[in-house]
Amino acid sequence: MSFYYVNDTPQYNGDHEVHEQGCCFMPVNKTFLGYFSNYEEAVREAVKVHPRAVACVYCLGKYQHDKYHNELHAVSGFRGAGRVKHH
Ligand SMILES: [Zn+2]
Repeated sequence: MSFYYVNDTPQYNGDHEVHEQGCCFMPVNKTFLGYFSNYEEAVREAVKVHPRAVACVYCLGKYQHDKYHNELHAVSGFRGAGRVKHH
């Protein structure tokens, strides 16, 4: 769970970035979206404020990285397949 904000100042292409609390690219002019359990929910809320809301690449990258690792841990019991054969 985390707090999310949307940038009120559009990017050069008109997109409004959504940031997770603590992002180092947090804009000065922003609208508080709320407290969400995941990034998808935050973006869904952000498009109500700015129709062209998109995820911040930095925040989303971190979010997906964490999510990927959580999923990886969930299947950590699986091993042994695909071992590389050296000749
Ligand atoms: Zn961000």
